[in-house]
Amino acid sequence: MAQKLQAIRGMNDVLPAESHQWEYFENTLRGWLADYGYQNIRTPIVESTPLFVRSIGEVTDIVEKEMYSFTDSLNGDSLTLRPEGTAGTLRAVVEHNLLYNTTQKLWYMGPMFRHERPQKGRYRQFHQIGVEALGMNGPDIDAEIIAMTAELWRRLGLADSVQLEINTLGNKEERAAHREALIAYLEQHVAILDEDGKRRLYSNPLRVLDTKNPALQEMANAAPRLSDYLGDASRAHYEGWKALIDALGIPYVENPRLVRGLDYYNQSVFEWVTTELGAQGTVCAGGRYDGLIEQLGGKPAPGIGFGMGMERVLLLLAEKGLLPARRSVDVFIVNQGQGATAYAMQLAQSLRMAGHSVIQHMGDASFKSQMKKADGSGAAVALIIGENEVATAQVVIKPLRADAAQETVAAADVAAAVSRFKS
Ligand code: ATP
Ligand code: MG
Repeated sequence: MAQKLQAIRGMNDVLPAESHQWEYFENTLRGWLADYGYQNIRTPIVESTPLFVRSIGEVTDIVEKEMYSFTDSLNGDSLTLRPEGTAGTLRAVVEHNLLYNTTQKLWYMGPMFRHERPQKGRYRQFHQIGVEALGMNGPDIDAEIIAMTAELWRRLGLADSVQLEINTLGNKEERAAHREALIAYLEQHVAILDEDGKRRLYSNPLRVLDTKNPALQEMANAAPRLSDYLGDASRAHYEGWKALIDALGIPYVENPRLVRGLDYYNQSVFEWVTTELGAQGTVCAGGRYDGLIEQLGGKPAPGIGFGMGMERVLLLLAEKGLLPARRSVDVFIVNQGQGATAYAMQLAQSLRMAGHSVIQHMGDASFKSQMKKADGSGAAVALIIGENEVATAQVVIKPLRADAAQETVAAADVAAAVSRFKS
């Protein structure tokens, strides 16, 4: 026997036993996105590597060690499987001039790829739903994005399972001044920095504070705070954002250590976190990135967005028992004997036209074994067709879920009869 082939580690199949849960989640998302006026954008999964390096930043986890990059053997270009959705979306916005004299509210959904150590809530192919609101300065849109995400948790039944953390990163100049002070502070503590910390001291000192190393927490807590370096405009933006979130009645925690792992953020940043998924607690993360569009060659325009890890939300929904049961068909058609196949097939077509979902048993099998399959299918009713029914243009309808007797009805009345037994 040939050796069995397997999926790539950290890249999962979604099998029929679970795919309906994804569909439920995706359908909820589509309705929610439409309610806030967002439009779908679909970009390629592969982009040129420099796009990600330029937007996400050289000294970040993603660019340093997580990207699936490869050389296009035809022309030597370096290509990368997208690790996140913002870069490709903004590339497309600039390329197609979508911000000419207008704003945009865009969403995307699909697989992302990062070479990480697979564990619960962390995969090498995972899925994100993300939005980008472009051309708006905020803080009103920053607050609407919080309102929007809060509303999604409400719709999913997760409002009590997630907490909002917010922070401000100020603007470029403020971050530069803070950075100088931070480097000076870290230099005094260089002896206790771990390897990552030492490497990032000069290249990305803010990220040194974002450490998960408990030995560094105290040092990180006492470090110079960006909030002490904010100017009036940044302060006003942050206060304005908070006032609107307060007006919406959405609780939050201010977390001055929240810096986000990607370089492009400024001003408002936020995360929705849960304590119910172990270490992989961030289910949704985002913020403002006012310089990014220009950095990618577009006319300067502000932007804000977020990415949500779909697997993590699904894990949370599963843990809380909030996922729907498998959807089954309305009708299972049992058929056997002379002329039964064609008769059943015509009937199935007309039932589908009437809005019922139908499985017709295929192939020869005894009535008994077909009835077993009808039961197992989860259908609301079985329709039974033998030579007798073909001859009289009738059908036997047998309720499978309701406690009711079977009936014989004329073929023309079957659709209406099925409706009576559908939940
Ligand atoms: P983390 O700190 O968990 O590594 P991150 O800061 O790298 O997250 P982002 O780049 O902000 O994550 O991506 C947005 C969201 O996508 C995360 O909050 C998380 O829900 C999800 N996510 C990120 N990486 C993975 C992964 N490898 N597997 C599953 N979900 C992921
Ligand atoms: Mg990460």
